[in-house]
Parts: sequence; structure tokens; C-alpha cells
Amino acid sequence: MSQVVEQLAELTAFRDRDVVDTTLATALRDLLAPQQVAIHRCVGEDDDRRWLTRARLGLQDVAASADPLWTELHDLPRLDAFPARLLALQQQAAVALPGTPNVTVFPLTTDREVVGVLELHTTEPLDTASHRLVGSILRIYRNFQALLDYSERDTLTGLLNRKTFDEAFYKLSGGGAAAGAADPAGGEPAPGRRNGLATHPHYIGVIDIDHFKLVNDNYGHLIGDEVLLLLSRLMRSVFRFHDRLYRFGGEEFVVLMRCAGDAEAGIALERLRNSVHGYAFPQVGTISVSVGYTRLKPGDTPSSAFERADRAVYWAKSHGRNQVCSHATLVASGDLADDSKVGDVELF
Ligand code: GH3
Ligand code: MG
Ligand code: MG
Repeated sequence: MSQVVEQLAELTAFRDRDVVDTTLATALRDLLAPQQVAIHRCVGEDDDRRWLTRARLGLQDVAASADPLWTELHDLPRLDAFPARLLALQQQAAVALPGTPNVTVFPLTTDREVVGVLELHTTEPLDTASHRLVGSILRIYRNFQALLDYSERDTLTGLLNRKTFDEAFYKLSGGGAAAGAADPAGGEPAPGRRNGLATHPHYIGVIDIDHFKLVNDNYGHLIGDEVLLLLSRLMRSVFRFHDRLYRFGGEEFVVLMRCAGDAEAGIALERLRNSVHGYAFPQVGTISVSVGYTRLKPGDTPSSAFERADRAVYWAKSHGRNQVCSHATLVASGDLADDSKVGDVELF
């Protein structure tokens, strides 16, 4: 009993989602001693959903293994490659597959959706008491995830809120307090921490709806809210599952993404601009967005990077809207002042 309580305390000790899945796997491994326990999440969009392994732990393993967070979607197995997992998702109920090993799959759900599965491999079929124990722990896991969502996500769109941006930024850039912290679960370090920005460039894109005030004025706030919600869906479908999507407030959205270079970042954001402009929003019809982006530099703070991208948005707004502008290109062409020099002066 005390072991269970201890594991639950451990499970709810970290507010970092990257750690919670590993902690859940470790707790179940220690409590039930299965041959293997794994957590697989569904990633991708409606027509192409795949399994991303978030934590996998064998009986003898010291640390959990996982798919790298930056895996490309097409390198991951499709949902139907694992029928028992798929069945657990569809039925939203545990599925037991007798054999060697015995496989038991539990759906992982949040208040909003089914997000993945927990898979146990055991030599004997899972007995009723163990089954119940897993069910109870998953309910706690679910409640905890709901609390995390409540504090980290925007209620209208479900995108991450501004509050969580700084932490993610420091994790990616490999600088700042959050990046220096040890990974409490001993899991894989975040990509930025391991590689830094030099080997894996990251970009921030700021997306602002054009003339959104008119949408509210002409159609009312509720329709305005629906536009915001639909825009967030378009963002989810355009960007990759590992890009981080934020609603910064009002009609302003942010994406934090890893791209090979300016051209690739520009193409991704242009794809969003294009799909927004081509989308028929109910009642409202066509809207457009102005987008600015910039590459994260070593030594950037969340606000310095955001400001660069925002200045590119401002430029886009004052030069016709409905366009994607690169801060670096605008500086190179002399359309924007090089603010890195301004920053240097301010330092002294
Ligand atoms: P611009 O093209 O220059 O960006 O013009 P704009 O009208 O989009 O920009 P402005 O900043 O003047 O207006 C933003 C509007 O967004 C004002 C406000 O009514 C609306 N807004 C902010 N938050 C929300 C929200 O949560 N729901 C709705 N429906 N509207 C919101
Ligand atoms: Mg606007
Ligand atoms: Mg705005």
C-alpha cells in the first residue's frame, strides 16, 4: 500500500509533461513488474495518425527509452500497425490479447480526447486486482493531466498559453534556468539541451489575424471566437506534431518550430497563410493573417525573439497584410533596423 502511495506522489511531483509519462511507466513497472510497460501517444492529424512511443521500460531497464521528439511523422508506425492499441482507442476500454507475452492495452484519455495507450506485457494474463490498480492509477494520471491542461492551455482553442512559452523557449535554446535543471526522471534530455541552437535551428513565428476587430464588429464575439478556434485547427493541421503552438492572447498566435533554415520556416508559415486565406469561415467567409518570423539566436530571451518576429508582423501589417515576412530578410534589405546592434548598445 505504501509503495502505491509513494508511486503516486512521484507521478504528480513534476509539472513537466515530458517527465510524467516516464514516471507513469516507472511506477507501473515497479508496482506490477511486467516484462514491459510502454506509453504510446497518437500524433498527427485525422487522416494520418501514428504512434509515438513516449516511454518504454523493460523489467531490467535502468532508464526508459522513447522515440526522439523530433521524429518525422512518416517514420512512425501507423495506428493500424498495432490493432490491439487501435481497438483500445476506438472502444475507449482495455483490450487483452492472450499470448506470449500477454498484452493488455489501456486507453489514455483526457477530458477532451483519447491521447494514446498504455501497453503492458506480462507472462500471465493480468489479474483482476492488477487490472483495477492500473485503472485507478490511470484515473489519477488523467486528473493530473487535466490540471496541467488547465494551467497550461488556452480554454478556447486548447493551444498552449503564453505562460508556458518561456519555459519551452529555454528548453529549446539550451540556456536559462529551466535548461540547466537535471531531468528528474533521468530520461532523454530535451533536444536543445543536448544539441543547442547551432546544430538545430529553431524559429518563432508570430501570426496575427488581419482586421479581426471587423469580424467581431460585423458578426459578433461568438462568431469571432469560432474563427479563433478554426484558425487553431488549421494551425494543428499545417504544422508538425512536434511544433509548439500557442495562443498568446486575443487574435495573436505563435509557433515555435525546428527548421533547417529560413526558407523551410518561411514555407511552413506560408502554407498556413495560404490555407487560412483559402478557408471558408462560416458566415465570415475569407480572412487573412499577417505573419513574421525569426530564427532564435544564442543569448535570445523569449521577449527579444518574440519582439523581432513581431516587428516583422508589424511591417507586414503596414505593407498590405496577408503576407509572411522574415525579420532577417527585412533587415538585410534595409526595411528594418538591425535591432541586435540596438541590444548591444543597451547592454553597456
Ligand atoms: P490588424 O489587422 O491591424 O491586426 O487589425 P485587428 O482588428 O486584427 O487588430 P486590433 O488589435 O485592432 O483588434 C484585435 C481585436 O481582437 C480586438 C478584440 O475585439 C478582438 N479580440 C481579442 N480577443 C478576443 C477573443 O478572445 N475573442 C474575440 N471574439 N475577439 C477577441
Ligand atoms: Mg489583428
Ligand atoms: Mg493583434
